[in-house]
Amino acid sequence: MNAQPSYVDAHAHLIHPAFAGEEDATAERAAAAGLDVVIVNGLEPRSNRAVLELCRRHDNLRPALGIYPVDAIARQIDRAAWPHPFAPPEPFDTDAEIAFIDEVAATGELIAVGECGLDAYWVTDHMAEQERVLVALCEVAKRHDLPVILHTRKAEARTLAILKELGVEKADFHCFGGKLKLAVEVAEAGYYLSIPPVVERGESFQRMAAKLPLDRILTETDCPYMGPDKEGRNEPAFVPRGVVAMAQARGITADAMAEAVRENFRRLFGA
Ligand SMILES: [Zn+2]
Repeated sequence: MNAQPSYVDAHAHLIHPAFAGEEDATAERAAAAGLDVVIVNGLEPRSNRAVLELCRRHDNLRPALGIYPVDAIARQIDRAAWPHPFAPPEPFDTDAEIAFIDEVAATGELIAVGECGLDAYWVTDHMAEQERVLVALCEVAKRHDLPVILHTRKAEARTLAILKELGVEKADFHCFGGKLKLAVEVAEAGYYLSIPPVVERGESFQRMAAKLPLDRILTETDCPYMGPDKEGRNEPAFVPRGVVAMAQARGITADAMAEAVRENFRRLFGA
């Protein structure tokens, strides 16, 4: 008899208006769905602190604190000329926040550093400042022997180059949107790539699940986004659906896929 497979979510945003008031119930649904570990990612000072509080209440939630690349340049952007339908990020002292993440990492409470990285999709300028913050957070991660969880939208190759320059050994590229060839390069450099449940209806993620080395694949949700259903909120309890789709793409059983991912997660995050 095989034991019930266990699942992991390498990247979730349970601190988000979409989960307001339902954070604890969502964590409980995740546990009931067999999720051993859900990494809850912070983005800026407010969510970083809320992530810590939430994770202290649940055994299956582990905190990762970071600075999202768009938040990293909140002090640089021209707020009056912000072109997007969502509000521009609130300015804060990025160096004080990097120091805070460093302090919390020193206590052993964090499972990783992130979300951090580069974004050339929502913003195309201030890349030097984005890189400065990414490098500083990678140094924090290295100092405490923690993995980094990376956002790399439209800046995948540059992020990979920075990690190599810095000698970062442990990293997860979340929701990788670059070419398959580059994804393979990321895996061959020893880094991991986490795939969200949207893989159920997303051909590029299916190709990644089929072609990447099995020992470099992880699961994530990026919830409330990237869900299996076109409408509706994504959540950690949907990871098993993503695993089924990944296994189908690869031509292996769902149990074998879940087992491989669980082992990969333990190798990278030590949990
Ligand atoms: Zn994210």
